[in-house]
Amino acid sequence: MADIEVQSFNGSLLWEPWQVLKKDQTPYKVFTPYYRRGCLSNVAPRRPLAAPVVIDSVSVSKDSLSLNNLNLLPTIKWDTQMHSRWDISEEAAQDRLDDFVMAELEGYREGRNFPDKANVSRLSPYLHFGQISPNTAWHRAADAAAIINNEDSLDTFLSELGWREFSYYLLYHFPQLPAKNLQSRFDAFPWASNTDQDLKAWQQGKTGYPLVDAGMRELYSTGYMHNRVRMVVGSFLVKNLLIHWHRGEEWFWDCLVDADLASNSASWQWIAGCGADAAPFFRIFNPITQSEKFDKQGEYLRRYVPELADMPAKYIHAPWLAPAEILSAANVEIGVNYPGPVIDIKESRERALDAFKLTKITE
Ligand SMILES: Cc1cc2nc3c(=O)[nH]c(=O)nc-3n(C[C@H](O)[C@H](O)[C@H](O)COP(=O)(O)OP(=O)(O)OC[C@H]3O[C@@H](n4cnc5c(N)ncnc54)[C@H](O)[C@@H]3O)c2cc1C
Repeated sequence: MADIEVQSFNGSLLWEPWQVLKKDQTPYKVFTPYYRRGCLSNVAPRRPLAAPVVIDSVSVSKDSLSLNNLNLLPTIKWDTQMHSRWDISEEAAQDRLDDFVMAELEGYREGRNFPDKANVSRLSPYLHFGQISPNTAWHRAADAAAIINNEDSLDTFLSELGWREFSYYLLYHFPQLPAKNLQSRFDAFPWASNTDQDLKAWQQGKTGYPLVDAGMRELYSTGYMHNRVRMVVGSFLVKNLLIHWHRGEEWFWDCLVDADLASNSASWQWIAGCGADAAPFFRIFNPITQSEKFDKQGEYLRRYVPELADMPAKYIHAPWLAPAEILSAANVEIGVNYPGPVIDIKESRERALDAFKLTKITE
């Protein structure tokens, strides 16, 4: 025994999960009271301290290997696109936060819904791996309040950091979160069988629904997907295709640069309707109307689904409905160079709602 005393300090969360409890000492299950009453009205997130100049308790042995010696990078270069997209240094995390606060935070509340706008922070991988702490993000954004002059945007951004906290909070209090439905009535949910082909189409971004396909291809090529599109592709998998949320969780886990046990599993349970404070099951995102609303001109779609680059905005959201001459002028042949829809949106919505009724019967 080395007889060394060890103490742990919170470095990755704003609030320790075990310190935030309801009056009856049980954990919160609903976000707003957790965040407003349990967290905000109790203790303000502490200000981050400056990084120590020297850490004298750890000495690096001369026999230590460098990171490069460990050969952690893939030998088959599937990650080249990701390298050009992400600078993984701590300095890059600080710069990203500064740029976000100075240029993008002001329009965050509205802009964060549009996958083609630059209004989200893209801090998630840095927060996950610890190149930046949530306290730094919190205080730098709050300190800029006077400059950005948009209280609503600031509040929304801080509450998104709050959702990250809530995910960790749920994982701490309900450690079965990645594996089991938090609402057990969903254990009776009748998932579809023989779904290999649909799952593959979803993973490869070949469902025939441009917004779903763009998101899935953004994920695979860059390791990131915009939050609104995550919600749309998640809803499509679980509700339209009736594929278990675990399959989505696993694929995101394999592909995301910000893959995070707490946020990923809490978000998939949220999408599937089986989590704490989850989206109601009957809220089924329509990938066509979401696309028309949040990527009206189809810029995001064109970037990730180049087969549709020449489709006019009016038809790009549901290309199989376009007149033959429009498709031909845009060099799109449905079923040949771009797939037709894997499933009918209206029928699959009805099927999902019927399936949901079965979870109520067994409640
Ligand atoms: C199905 C699904 C799976 C997800 N899986 C992950 C995951 O594995 N890792 C992950 O970090 N986020 C996950 N999210 C949450 C969210 O999509 C990402 O955190 C966000 O898109 C990251 O982009 P950003 O940094 O630009 O976010 P911003 O909008 O700039 O938000 C700032 C920070 O707040 C936190 N945050 C924002 N939204 C959420 C949220 N809904 N839940 C938890 N934290 C949030 C993130 O740390 C984010 O970096 C998932 C969402 C869905 C719908």
